[in-house]
Parts: sequence; C-alpha cells; structure tokens
Amino acid sequence: MKTVTLPGGEQVPMLGQGTWMMGERPERRADEMAALQAGVELGMTLVDTAEMYGEGAAEELIGEALGHRRDELFLVSKAYPHHASRTALPRACEASLARLGTDRIDLYLLHWRGSVPLADTVEAMERLQEAGKIRHWGVSNLDTDDMEELLEAGGEGCATDQILYNLTRRGPEQALMPWLAAHRIPVMAYSPVEQGRLLGHARLAAIASRLGATPAQVALAWAMRGEDVIAIPKAGTPEHVRENRAAADLVITPDELAALDAAFPVPARPVALEML
Ligand code: NDP
Repeated sequence: MKTVTLPGGEQVPMLGQGTWMMGERPERRADEMAALQAGVELGMTLVDTAEMYGEGAAEELIGEALGHRRDELFLVSKAYPHHASRTALPRACEASLARLGTDRIDLYLLHWRGSVPLADTVEAMERLQEAGKIRHWGVSNLDTDDMEELLEAGGEGCATDQILYNLTRRGPEQALMPWLAAHRIPVMAYSPVEQGRLLGHARLAAIASRLGATPAQVALAWAMRGEDVIAIPKAGTPEHVRENRAAADLVITPDELAALDAAFPVPARPVALEML
C-alpha cells in the first residue's frame, strides 16, 4: 500500500476507509462489518469516523468490527465544533474512545470551524496529546484563511486538513492545496467519489474503460496521483472495498490525466472551500 508521510515522519496508508452513514441500519450491519474487515485485510488500515456519524453509531461499529486488530489501525475521529473548547473536548474525546473501545485516537480532528476560538481548540488538542489520549491532531473543512489563522493561533502541530476533494470539486487546487503543500500538511480527501454521483459520469466511464479500470478506481487513483493526498472512500460491501483497493495500484497515463483535466477542469474563478 502506498503511504503518505505525516508531519513528524509517520507514514499512513494513502487509501483509507470512510464510515459516514455506517452503523445506522441494522440490515446493513453485517455487510458494513465485513467491508471494514476486508479493507483492513487489504491494507486500508486508516479508518475515518466522527462522533457525529450516527451520533456515535459509526464509532461503535468500528470498535465491534475492528477492535481485535486495534494495533494495526490508524484511527481518525472528529469532534463537533461545539465540543472544541478546553472543557468540552476532553469529554468528547473520552466518549469517542469508549465507543471505539480503545485508549487512544491516532488522529483527532476539529470537524469544521465553529464559534470556539482556534487557539482554545489548539490548546485542548495539545493537552489531549500530552495525556496520550490522541497521537496527532488536525482539522477539517478549513479554507486557506482559516489555516493561516490556525497557524497564527499556535497550530503548527496540525497534521492534516480533511477536505471535500474529487474530480468535480477541484477548487482546493487553486490556493488551499498549494498552501498546505508549502506547509507540509497532507490533505485527506473526503467524498472522493462524490458520494457515488461521479460513478455514472459518461466521460469518466470512457476514460476508465480505456484504462481497463472502473470509474471508482480512476476517481480514487486520480485523487491519490500525488504524494500528499490520502483518500478515504466509504464502501458498504466487501466487493466495493476490493474494487477500491485496486485503485492504489492503478497508474493513470499522462494522456488519460489530460483527458481527466479536460473533462473535469479546475474552476476558472476562485471558489470558497465547499463542504458536504
Ligand atoms: P464517498 O465519495 O466515499 O462515496 C460513498 C458512496 O459511494 C457510497 O454510497 C458507496 O456505496 C459508494 N461507493 C463507494 N465505492 C464504490 C464502488 N467501488 N462502486 C460503487 N459504489 C461505490 O462519500 P462519503 O461522503 O462517504 O466520503 C467518504 C468518507 O469521508 C466518509 O464516509 C467520511 O468518513 C468522510 N467525510 C468527511 C466529511 C467531513 O466533513 N470531514 C464529510 C463527508 C465525508 P456502498 O456503501 O454501497 O459501497
């Protein structure tokens, strides 16, 4: 499995697993558990979740499905903005730890920016790190101006910005991604197949067919074409997980990269960071 290097040198898988909408429907639970387990078996040991997902149900599902393989995992979870203060964050973190059935979160993120000052969140994250409750911390859905403010607020320790990034959401390439690259902060690309909406796209399908791959594989391989973007697709069946896993080994030729650029251009005008 290809890897991305976090600030500080730790390497994590470039392809992980998302869990939004998981753990919420009893009739899908067996498939979801099998999907997560298949992904870990295939090296997709970075698993992304949040206290928000099913109000804890996704974290509980991860604990149940993967608890026995905890030491192989790189667990990412996120706190609500209204939990991002010095007093509330430790409680939110303990609750996530209990649901995940573990004693540490590998990467803990502020889910999006709210009204708590960033300096308070940075301090709360650093205290959790010192206490060994989390190993790294980062943010999600922060645009360039927010990131600049974060660093001014003492947030040099930020390990990632998790953002909406896929072929149909290339706005971050204008300013945010160059800024993050300059500061050596890797990106985590969420909704990398645009929640499934990308998969029926005719021009993507044509390119995929020329590459002998599926649209999902091309969309994921495209997101992972550099060295510093981690992709975290959510797949609810082992079949989809296996299909997605192969994307980490798919090389998109320069001609087909150009065809993707033509079909999915970077927006001509500056766009603010979008979120789902
Ligand atoms: P994705 O782009 O990962 O799309 C998920 C959808 O695509 C599901 O319906 C899934 O179906 C389908 N899918 C995945 N792989 C395949 C495949 N090979 N063939 C056919 N269908 C496929 O969307 P998400 O919004 O879930 O984003 C991924 C993860 O990113 C989330 O789960 C979450 O962990 C994180 N995220 C973070 C956000 C943030 O604010 N920080 C916001 C949104 C997401 P099926 O389930 O049937 O496999």
